[in-house]
Amino acid sequence: MSDERLSPGDEELVRVASLQRERAYAPYSRYKVGAAIRTKRNKIHSGANVENTSYGLTVCAERAAVFTAVNAGDRELDAIAIVIAGDELPSPCGACRQVLYEFGPAMRVILATTTGKRRATTLAELLPDAFGPASLPPAS
Ligand SMILES: [Zn+2]
Repeated sequence: MSDERLSPGDEELVRVASLQRERAYAPYSRYKVGAAIRTKRNKIHSGANVENTSYGLTVCAERAAVFTAVNAGDRELDAIAIVIAGDELPSPCGACRQVLYEFGPAMRVILATTTGKRRATTLAELLPDAFGPASLPPAS
């Protein structure tokens, strides 16, 4: 499913994620990632990975973008583009899939490389049988 043709809106999301990728702080892994999220209000919020000398404190690009969106008042996420360099498509880590699910269980996920590879999928495909707000008992 590589080299898919995307809609102009999806390509715009990939373009924003590619630009954001240049802001990544990845001196340890040298694995720079950019992410851009489109919300239901048609706003775009982006993020890049930020590593730390204490490796466990690193934040992925996808979560950085989600936190930016939520801090801007956007909690309903429609789509995310994730971009890396090279020929291999990115794959969001489990923590990011879980965080994305909180605000966009039905979101589209566009995986892309700076060399032009594309794959469009869904969060439901990447995180089946997810644990989310509906999994908790109702508040009393
Ligand atoms: Zn992640």
